[in-house]
Amino acid sequence: MTTSEYVHPGADYRSRLPLSIRDEGLDSNGDPDPTTTDRRWLWRLEMFLAVNGTNEHHRQMASDLQFYLGETCEHHWKAYEGDAEIAAHRQCSWCNDVVWAANEEATR
Ligand SMILES: [Zn+2]
Repeated sequence: MTTSEYVHPGADYRSRLPLSIRDEGLDSNGDPDPTTTDRRWLWRLEMFLAVNGTNEHHRQMASDLQFYLGETCEHHWKAYEGDAEIAAHRQCSWCNDVVWAANEEATR
């Protein structure tokens, strides 16, 4: 982004938000996801810093924020049936934690 592309903070920031923030209460499939707007913003900031961090301070903040968010994640699971390549599992759409179906059955 060049300086000329910068949008004044007073402009309608909502029009620039990704669906992951705008659709509070729903996930990308339209399924219910009660993750709060504040948490959605934190995940967005973590991703932004991880991708766009340009120095060690930015990368350290991204790492610390990722650890905090992962540690306190209220998982939003998405289930995968599994196929010939990947076994059945569920994965959190926020922190990416995975629980394999075979492990769940073993602990019941
Ligand atoms: Zn999670």
